Amino acid sequence: MLKEGGFKKQIAGFNVERIGNAARSLALGRYAYERAREWAMQRKQFGRLLCEFQGLQWKFAEMKTKLDAGQLLLYRAAANADRGFPSAEETAIAKVFCNQSGFEVANEALQVMGGLGYSQEELVEYCVRRCRGWMIAGGSIEILKNRIAEGVCRAQLLAAAGKGVKREADRSQAGSRLPVSPKTELQAAQEIEDVLRVLSPRASKVLITRLASDGPNWRFPKLL
Ligand SMILES: Cc1cc2nc3c(=O)[nH]c(=O)nc-3n(C[C@H](O)[C@H](O)[C@H](O)COP(=O)(O)OP(=O)(O)OC[C@H]3O[C@@H](n4cnc5c(N)ncnc54)[C@H](O)[C@@H]3O)c2cc1C
Repeated sequence: MLKEGGFKKQIAGFNVERIGNAARSLALGRYAYERAREWAMQRKQFGRLLCEFQGLQWKFAEMKTKLDAGQLLLYRAAANADRGFPSAEETAIAKVFCNQSGFEVANEALQVMGGLGYSQEELVEYCVRRCRGWMIAGGSIEILKNRIAEGVCRAQLLAAAGKGVKREADRSQAGSRLPVSPKTELQAAQEIEDVLRVLSPRASKVLITRLASDGPNWRFPKLL
């Protein structure tokens, strides 16, 4: 049983966890982007390198824009937590954007790599699959959008509901144990280390404890 104020504290802890989740999406998207970029600079079709086709250059421009924007939103949520936990709204915005962008970037990277990207010889298809899961885990995109919308039209919602807080969706133990890849783990570890640099000491502690409790799925020897 939670003591008085316990639910609020627990939810505040989820906001830190969501920052870790968003960082992972970004890491997977970034890994796929880098891999597709390398590929486009060596693969030739119709006598030209893939990176010479403007249609593909635009894909890379969009991918980079999404990754950079996601990183800034993530840093905003982490950096503003200097007096405690990150704000629920900023965290929700960062998670929605990073989850969607990570997935879209990984998906476009797969497209750029053609059949090779789809095959399991490369980690890019793994990144797409894994990003898909982060759009559901730790607060699905829809539920987080509800959270963001609460801030947008709070007064009206409060009046309509007669109370302030909506309940988080029930969390079930649905398939969280996908096999992991050391290469993308390294990218995720780097991404999370960057976030830890801007998180307050208290919030960092919560995030590290949460990562440790994820068990063998997430091992960060440098951090734990
Ligand atoms: C990769 C992965 C890892 C996970 N890890 C963990 C873990 O470590 N611990 C843990 O406890 N759980 C974990 N989960 C479970 C996760 O928290 C739940 O799957 C998630 O909360 C959604 O719940 P559900 O699957 O019951 O879907 P449902 O709640 O049935 O939702 C189904 C769909 O309806 C949407 N929806 C639901 N309510 C609303 C609404 N009010 N408005 C609009 N749309 C709505 C949802 O967004 C979703 O798209 C994990 C899931 C995944 C995929």
